Amino acid sequence: MNSSQIQHFNYIFTGAGLASLMTVYKMVLSGKFSDKSILLLDKDAKKINDRTWCFWEKEETIWKSIISKKWDSALFANENFKRDLDLKPYSYNKINGLDFYDFVFEKISNQSNITFLKEKVTDINELETHVFVGTEENRYTCNYLFNSIYTKAFAERQTKYPVLQQHFVGWFVKTEVDVFNSEQATFMDFSVQQKGNTRFMYVLPTSTTEALVEYTLFSENLLPKEEYENEIQIYLQKLGINQYKITEKEQGSIPMTSFSFWKKNTKRVLNIGTAGGWTKASTGYTFKNSDKKSSELVEFITDKSASIALSMTSESLNMKAFHKKNRFWFYDLLLLDILYRHNELGSSIFSSLFKKGNLKLIFKFLDEETSFIEDFQVIMKCPKVSFIKALFRVIFK
Ligand SMILES: Cc1cc2nc3c(=O)[nH]c(=O)nc-3n(C[C@H](O)[C@H](O)[C@H](O)COP(=O)(O)OP(=O)(O)OC[C@H]3O[C@@H](n4cnc5c(N)ncnc54)[C@H](O)[C@@H]3O)c2cc1C
Repeated sequence: MNSSQIQHFNYIFTGAGLASLMTVYKMVLSGKFSDKSILLLDKDAKKINDRTWCFWEKEETIWKSIISKKWDSALFANENFKRDLDLKPYSYNKINGLDFYDFVFEKISNQSNITFLKEKVTDINELETHVFVGTEENRYTCNYLFNSIYTKAFAERQTKYPVLQQHFVGWFVKTEVDVFNSEQATFMDFSVQQKGNTRFMYVLPTSTTEALVEYTLFSENLLPKEEYENEIQIYLQKLGINQYKITEKEQGSIPMTSFSFWKKNTKRVLNIGTAGGWTKASTGYTFKNSDKKSSELVEFITDKSASIALSMTSESLNMKAFHKKNRFWFYDLLLLDILYRHNELGSSIFSSLFKKGNLKLIFKFLDEETSFIEDFQVIMKCPKVSFIKALFRVIFK
């Protein structure tokens, strides 16, 4: 392309990870966007297995063909107790990042209206009638832009909302002898030393000799890499595992915050994924929320575009109208306020919730599908004094 030419698209997605690919996949499935030109821009080719996604689900999902492992049982533990959690009617499902990327790219490779380019985005600029996008190589314009490039500074350079990180390093290990229960995932094992933080182990066994073992914290600051890895070694020894190979590693740092990302949305630019606040602030889980939000988004664009076309006005879509704030946002804020001030309380809060709590209700609550009375039942399982204090702090701040 001649560098003076600027190619125009109906929609551009800056970043082509989870949220963008889910949205584009559903746009294709809907069959309503085949006359719209769509450009996906990402600095990476999306050919690497860079993350493992897990989510609970009780109904069949459109991702079922790429689920590589399901668990019907999970373990919650701390230094004093262990509880086997029967997940049914839910199952805990695992999808390898690369399987997801391959699955979506195969679908969109047959769509002549969709283009993927491996280019690093350097500039996004909204004008009255369109949005301008600059990359290291080219320049583009579009009517609407969906951005999933996360700008750390937005959340981290403000003081109104606490920001924690869910940070972790995981080893995929292969042992010589059978040691893992391949039918049970470990959600949270708080029996590891807390050192003034919220620290736990997360284990995803895929066979009796293979598992992903992840040392995870919900806290403000990251650790030196050796510290996560030392803790994994100590934990493996505690499980009686001395002979093993590390076949792969993964690491991550997911922002946990009630920061109002949606306030960055404008008429033509919608932030999606973690950048749009689609990460559940209190848990860091994003897959399921993105699945829901991407469906809502495709419906939103389809319905609004249709009604604008019907009214035959020169009105255009307003992306700002997409966001809805709910009471779960506030509950997340309370938990984060407590963990931010008293990071050492994480083990006791999660333990009181999981020790006797009804797991189906907890999942329903985390999926933001509970009634007000059910919310109360879940919250009352947590240490009351901490939550009441947080309530006063947040309200009277
Ligand atoms: C290792 C790991 C494991 C996780 N496990 C789970 C899990 O089990 N369950 C769960 O619910 N959530 C999990 N998460 C959290 C969350 O689901 C993921 O982070 C998810 O990928 C977020 O989706 P996204 O679309 O917001 O961002 P991403 O998927 O990260 O997509 C953003 C894209 O933007 C691209 N990009 C960035 N900068 C530029 C630029 N300047 N120009 C062009 N492209 C750019 C990136 O390459 C990336 O492809 C995990 C996260 C990590 C890192």
